Amino acid sequence: MIWNQNKECMSRDEMSALQGKRLHKVVEYVYHNVPFYRKKLQERDLIPDDIQTIEDITKLPYTTKKDLRDNYPTGLQAAPMSQIIRVHASSGTTGNPTIVGYTRKDIAIWTECMSRSLTAFGIGRNDIMSVAYGYGLFTGGLGAHNGVENVGAAVVPASTGNTEKHAKLLRDLGITGIACTPSYALYLAETMEKMGITKDQIKLRVGAFGAEPWTENMRKEIQDRLGLKGYNIYGLSEVMGPSVSYECQCQNGSHICEDHFFPEIINPVTLEPLPRGQKGELVFTTLTKEGMPVLRYRTRDITSLMEGECNCGRTAVRMTAIEGRSDDMLIIRGINVFPSQVEAVVLAIPEIAPRYMLIIDRVNNLDTLTVQVEVRPDYFTSDFDTPGAVENLRKKVEFKLRSVLSIGAKVELKAPGSIERSQGKSVRVLDKRVLK
Ligand code: ADP
Ligand code: ZN
Repeated sequence: MIWNQNKECMSRDEMSALQGKRLHKVVEYVYHNVPFYRKKLQERDLIPDDIQTIEDITKLPYTTKKDLRDNYPTGLQAAPMSQIIRVHASSGTTGNPTIVGYTRKDIAIWTECMSRSLTAFGIGRNDIMSVAYGYGLFTGGLGAHNGVENVGAAVVPASTGNTEKHAKLLRDLGITGIACTPSYALYLAETMEKMGITKDQIKLRVGAFGAEPWTENMRKEIQDRLGLKGYNIYGLSEVMGPSVSYECQCQNGSHICEDHFFPEIINPVTLEPLPRGQKGELVFTTLTKEGMPVLRYRTRDITSLMEGECNCGRTAVRMTAIEGRSDDMLIIRGINVFPSQVEAVVLAIPEIAPRYMLIIDRVNNLDTLTVQVEVRPDYFTSDFDTPGAVENLRKKVEFKLRSVLSIGAKVELKAPGSIERSQGKSVRVLDKRVLK
């Protein structure tokens, strides 16, 4: 089933013409409403009329997460606050989160894109779907929620946590679809097994999995343990949220909602655009957004684009599974974490030396984060023997990390000089989650 035949199956010429028209409009809109973009265009001697076709996009400047952070909180917002009806936030590298405001039209388009995804996954009015992405500032929960209601299925806003209750509801309500991170799906499977709920007792048929990288092996394992078919859904809050792209029944790449988000692939080092088919960093320009449109936003996600009609009948360009990132962002339990955030915390605690190591693992299908930090030599000799001092310091670091990262980390205090020094580029992250 296809939610919007007209847009999802457009001919390439029609799509390019529509994208060109919309690109001109969005450039004109930000030129007049966002001083940051006006300045950037002026620096390049550009006026909106210079942008007429989609090919003209290469004349435009890139936007980065740093630009959003530097213009915190709403410097890149184009619509006045009176038009904004919702605000989400995603983690920034250090300090400020990225704030994204949505107008009523933005939410409607997001809901439309989410409906395209769910329809492609086979979710419709006869389904009951639980949304186990986090509700709140994160775009996953509410984004998926609106889509499920829109396609007429019954939404169960389970959110994360409460996993036993959720497992019981899956069985008792006969829930047929679930939207969550792939790692949460595995955690849920495990919880169910512990509770003695077998896959024959549940009716799950469809899983909408995203917000973090996952592999074909994980797909097989989840499908096998929960007895459903798992589909990829991709998105990011700076561009919209979940449903920037989604898999169809053919599961050969994820179709991008390209009438709303224009994708490019660039070389992350030279910033040169790469021909379709080549692997590089994914860049998006929003073509219809009002709240916070972005021009050539660098996602840092590494993928490639596949053109050509898919067997499902959709013509929308597909992206391959995300292979990695061109920056050091980690995704731990669906939350974006940058090593620089840990560094900022460590630097702010006088008893701790600026040496640290992040160790990420997956235990019982849940991501764990351990942060090793080195105690300063002077503190190590003077206060270290005082009863409770060590434990207090450890707790203090844990508390500060939690408030900055929004996820819990286990802190291990290390003696001065004991965290391994590497030759050359320091290795500050040990990711033991083997994404095989
Ligand atoms: P969201 O709220 O959609 O997770 P964030 O801005 O917090 O948005 O995080 C977006 C990032 O999450 C993406 O840039 C990408 O790195 C990762 N991501 C989201 N969906 C997927 C997916 N299906 N596969 C791989 N990575 C994903
Ligand atoms: Zn398809």
